[in-house]
Amino acid sequence: MSVNSSLTELTSRAEAAYLGLAIGDALGATVEFMTPHEIAAKYGEHRDICGGGWLNLKPGKVTDDTTMSLALGAAILSDGGEVVPLSCAHAFDGWMRSKPVDIGNTVRRNLISFRRTGNPEAAPSEYDAGNGAAMRVLPVALATLGKSPEVVRQAVRAQAHATHNNPVSDGACDFLTFAVQDFLLGLPLRSVYRQRIEPLLQAFPEFSYRSKRQENPSGWIVHTLHVVLQGLVDTDTFEHYLIDVTNRGGDADTTGAIAGMLGGALYGYDAIPKRWLKALEPATCKACRAQARELVALACARG
Ligand code: MN
Ligand code: MN
Repeated sequence: MSVNSSLTELTSRAEAAYLGLAIGDALGATVEFMTPHEIAAKYGEHRDICGGGWLNLKPGKVTDDTTMSLALGAAILSDGGEVVPLSCAHAFDGWMRSKPVDIGNTVRRNLISFRRTGNPEAAPSEYDAGNGAAMRVLPVALATLGKSPEVVRQAVRAQAHATHNNPVSDGACDFLTFAVQDFLLGLPLRSVYRQRIEPLLQAFPEFSYRSKRQENPSGWIVHTLHVVLQGLVDTDTFEHYLIDVTNRGGDADTTGAIAGMLGGALYGYDAIPKRWLKALEPATCKACRAQARELVALACARG
């Protein structure tokens, strides 16, 4: 493959990952906080982006998972591709001022403390193991493509610790960032399983997802990874992956967003159902595509 065609392929997968994040968010938001039983009673199988849910969203609207990612990506772009802790905290604070449709408790608490102290790193806390930092790793993964693992990890911390300074959250953020980069570069699932999932489960046995099917996941990162990993290995298309994870209910917009990111990178743009692309709010669709292209272009130009 020539350099140009592989850059084209990489950019296309990056756009698919960003669109996947937004699609999973929009699809899952309809059934967030519902149980699988309630979802089945109301929708049979939930498979269309139709809005509603506890947030009473218009069809195609996304939530904090996507909008925090876009705010973070904009900050990285204005810093020339660097992931600067203070810029990340300011970006999230600015996002919070924009009156988002939803916001996590840990995010709100630690951003309010940032306003008071000016310290862009939240205090370490064993209780801050929510999925709020893991849901927005994608712009960092794109900006650090081709960088050494140490540089990637440092960038992962810079964004995550603005709100979640917790080792279990960090482990998940590292894993998701490296896994999505592997998929963007065209690695198959079996390689990512060996290189990333097996070592992850050794370092964090609590992420092991095989003991029982995780349904109705809370916002705890451990539940999130159970769903995201189980769905990844048990399905073989983008569409089935997202339907599988969102129909488990619970924190479905976030499991959907993370699965959409991984699935978009793994299966590529052509695997995204056209009905979901059409249903996504056009402004969001445009913003995700543009940011994916710009972040990849910058990462490749910087070498
Ligand atoms: Mn959300
Ligand atoms: Mn959520």
